[in-house]
Amino acid sequence: MPKKLVLFDIDGTLVRVRGISRQSLIDALREVFGTEGSAATHNFAGKLDSVIIKEVMRTTGLNDRDIQKGFEEAKRRYIQNFKEHARREHIEVMAGIYELVEKLAREESVVLALLTGNFEESGRHKLALPELNDYFAFGAFADDADTRNALPAVAVQRAFEQTGIRFTGKDVVIIGDTEHDVNCAKVLNSKCIAVATGHYTVSQLQAFNPDYTFENFANVETAFEAIMS
Ligand SMILES: [Mg+2]
Repeated sequence: MPKKLVLFDIDGTLVRVRGISRQSLIDALREVFGTEGSAATHNFAGKLDSVIIKEVMRTTGLNDRDIQKGFEEAKRRYIQNFKEHARREHIEVMAGIYELVEKLAREESVVLALLTGNFEESGRHKLALPELNDYFAFGAFADDADTRNALPAVAVQRAFEQTGIRFTGKDVVIIGDTEHDVNCAKVLNSKCIAVATGHYTVSQLQAFNPDYTFENFANVETAFEAIMS
């Protein structure tokens, strides 16, 4: 009987994608809107892909109605560009991740899924290249809500549909590398495990009060214990 719903972020947590992701978005925005706006330097960390597109295009002076008009096409082209150009060598798998994910997947009391700002199709491709995709049966993605804070409820509902179990409180474990991951965990009073393999240091992450903070998951046993506690 599963006891824990364990939700992993993708970028900065499971993997790091070198350059190609940002370039795919820059190209898509140029193709659709004729300009890339602030895409080359904009802070993407922990944000929904959909929010990133909107924030970046607002810096060009476009109004929300015009951004909305081009949004679906920009999303489609971004995913297409990314899938066309991303190769296995662009994807770095973070320390300990293969071992930790494998250990969790073998544990009968764990349901393993994703909670990420990625669009589902491009996020799945990021994980398929290093053969991590099959560990995660379902997830909550940028396609599912307008804010990251709405995603935990989406993941909990999908888990219920798959398992018949309503995971609540600290039995929902959200693992991520930014304050956005930590903050969304607080919405349902979930457990949050922050990891400093993305843009933030351990002390920066601790300032957001996650339940646990790790430098990385190289010590698989310690990470596993924190998740299962
Ligand atoms: Mg992240």
